[in-house]
Amino acid sequence: MRFVLSAFGLSLVLVSFAACSSAPEGVKNDTNPFGSDGGGGQQTDGGTSAGDGGGDTEGGTGGPGPAFTPDIGLLKTKGGAVVKAPKIVTIVWTQDPNYKTYETLGDNIGGSAYWTTSVSEYGVGVASSGGHVEIAGAPPASMDDGSNNDEVDAFIVKGVTGAPGNGWPVADADTMYMLYLPEATALLNNKADDCPNNNGYHTETTVGANTHVVYGLIASKCHDPSQNALDEATETATHEIAEAATDPHTNSDVAWTGFDADHYAWELFQQRQDEDGDACEFYEDVYYNDSAVGGFVQRLWSNKSAKAGHNPCVPVPPEPYFNVTPLAQEMITTTGTTGLMHTTKGYRIAVGASKTFAVGYYSDAKTEDWNVDVFVGDGFTVPTNPHATASIDTASGNNGTIAKVTVNVTSAPAKGNQVLVTLIASRKTGPQHFFPILVGAY
Ligand SMILES: [Zn+2]
Repeated sequence: MRFVLSAFGLSLVLVSFAACSSAPEGVKNDTNPFGSDGGGGQQTDGGTSAGDGGGDTEGGTGGPGPAFTPDIGLLKTKGGAVVKAPKIVTIVWTQDPNYKTYETLGDNIGGSAYWTTSVSEYGVGVASSGGHVEIAGAPPASMDDGSNNDEVDAFIVKGVTGAPGNGWPVADADTMYMLYLPEATALLNNKADDCPNNNGYHTETTVGANTHVVYGLIASKCHDPSQNALDEATETATHEIAEAATDPHTNSDVAWTGFDADHYAWELFQQRQDEDGDACEFYEDVYYNDSAVGGFVQRLWSNKSAKAGHNPCVPVPPEPYFNVTPLAQEMITTTGTTGLMHTTKGYRIAVGASKTFAVGYYSDAKTEDWNVDVFVGDGFTVPTNPHATASIDTASGNNGTIAKVTVNVTSAPAKGNQVLVTLIASRKTGPQHFFPILVGAY
């Protein structure tokens, strides 16, 4: 879990990391060497779902639109194919008390408003049921997805190889196999517990001549002990199904993963977990019960909604969305800890100097005032060596308020020259909204 910093101290808001990585083997459980010192180096975390934030917003409508156009990160395709008309195959053990719910979700999600709202802008159309694989008998005590002996991959390969004689639907370019491990089954990675890294993931494998067999895994045992296993499993499933469709060929031909070059700050803020599910997974207001899908779902990143000043995670919650955006970012060239150069937006500040820049409060409907704080780092953890201080002159406001943020670079980062600064828009209760900004220290 990540802890959110706020004006009210460490508010210990439990936020979810439905957690997945989708990357090729070896990167799949990447502990994510986070670029700037600002990041704290957490890894994805099979965290909890806080559910809807239950905020104190007024729910006003009909107010003016956002006073400022957010200079916000947008997902960008790397050019790979998407699954245009996914056929979702649900693979379950019939001794899993939740297997019917998983089958219903796999059958219903593709025709739901949730699905169309969240993935159509990425070129993914209506999805349909690809059928069910029901496995009788006791589920395995564990499955290991480690690179030494990937039992999950072997299980999928064996099933697809035997199709259709073994009851598995045959894989074609639209088939996505979703494997639901019962709570009785531990997920391991090279014999170590994999739950700290993953609630689930999606990837692809090769079966015969088919080099793009797309599959995903949901490990219900990996739920947070304080959360309902089924709700968290369906949240993870919606995240993985959407990502499997928008970025299916994770080993060979990646598609919608990563933010645009102008907004490298968002890539750092996300710790490079950057598909449409990842980009929303740790916000408090992204989990809700969607009856048309058949369970709790996770909202997913929408470029359209983000750019328009709405909640970037869709379908949007009913409450007005509020946040804060930098107003006149510079183009800067920065170097990450691995030496890679990035030309991107941010602010160039000399070591030992400070810079003051304007940020604008925005909301997409009439709503009560909110607070904005600024933190060095990603807003979740305090960097051990921040290399900067940051302050804001107007810590409360409403749509149209302009505040001045001052960042003072106190020392040079040990490697590279990136310092991440994060604005947090919040009230005493309810969801926090984040806006990362990159400083190039020179
Ligand atoms: Zn993901």
